[in-house]
Amino acid sequence: MDNKLFTPGPLNTKLSVKEAMLHDMGSRDKEFISVVKEIREQLLLLAGLTKEEGYDTVLMQGSGTFGVESVISTAIPADGHLLLITNGAYGDRIGEMAKVYGIKTTTLSYKENIVPPAQDVEEVLKTDSTVTHVAIIHCETTTGIFNDIERIGYLARKYNKIYIVDAMSSFGAVPIDFKKFDIDFLISSSNKCIEGVPGFSFIIFKVSSLESCKANARTVSLDLYSQWAYMRNSNSFRYTPPIQTILAFHKALAILKEEGGIPKRSERYQQNYHRLIEGTEALGLRTYLNKEDQGYIITSFLFPQHPNFDFTQFYQKLHEQGQVIYQGKLSDTDCFRIGNIGDLFVTDIDRLILAIDDVFKEMNIHF
Ligand SMILES: *Cc1c(COP(=O)(O)O)cnc(C)c1O
Repeated sequence: MDNKLFTPGPLNTKLSVKEAMLHDMGSRDKEFISVVKEIREQLLLLAGLTKEEGYDTVLMQGSGTFGVESVISTAIPADGHLLLITNGAYGDRIGEMAKVYGIKTTTLSYKENIVPPAQDVEEVLKTDSTVTHVAIIHCETTTGIFNDIERIGYLARKYNKIYIVDAMSSFGAVPIDFKKFDIDFLISSSNKCIEGVPGFSFIIFKVSSLESCKANARTVSLDLYSQWAYMRNSNSFRYTPPIQTILAFHKALAILKEEGGIPKRSERYQQNYHRLIEGTEALGLRTYLNKEDQGYIITSFLFPQHPNFDFTQFYQKLHEQGQVIYQGKLSDTDCFRIGNIGDLFVTDIDRLILAIDDVFKEMNIHF
């Protein structure tokens, strides 16, 4: 039996997803190319978009970060000016990229438990007309907070900026109205809410916004424009694709469709989340975020205030029971995280709660 992963990805995947990988296939194989074509069509469909409306998708080798970096290094020209809104490690990572590429950046940085207020963003956009791009994380996986990509999107449109959204840990499970939020580039990856295995990211974008980015990229392998120009009609990759990962993803998309698409997956994750909160509250655990800011993807829990609590031991003992939680990543607060995405159901959450209860008893922790 595999461990249960209550992590932000890689996640538990269905056996049939793993089985889909049991093939050798050449990257120029007709069968493989038609799989890529279908994936690209289905991703657009999932996003509620069509080619006719001027949207397209590109798959990019590497983990999610590679996809984000391909957008940052391709979409923002050398003389661009990025307004970065960050309240966590993934937002900060975009800042790191911008720095490496020498992109002028204005950063609105918030504590990890604060949803960035739209009026701050408007203030910058109103006073500094040199800003060309706005970037934000949707679900900041550092804490699990949901940022208001709708209102920020409204402002990006109002001030005519290119809008970049890292929806890595939300796309596929949280409804995102692309056209309403006026997103230019959205990034997600194979091993999050679509429940595939790791190996590539995908970018969903407005064609008009990428078309103007030819020769912008300061990287060869992550050049999003070149990847798209090559893949656009051929549905093939410039460099070796992660064949088996793509086959698994194709299966994962079929499963998502069978489950009932984004609404149903969203519902299952919300059920997991509510059960998790009920169970952990009963055990005396407290969440880091205010309930109204907390998303249903992953939850940060404060370390229990008990002299016997030791995270390493807690983690290890849960691991021995096949339950894998995730360490925290906060700048100034001790937390651990529990994710409820992947092939997980309320029965799995119940088992985790029982295991935590067991481990607390074993460690002699009571509240
Ligand atoms: C997972 C994740 C990423 C990408 O992380 P990788 O380790 O490169 O897959 C980026 N942004 C967010 C918000 C994420 O949750």
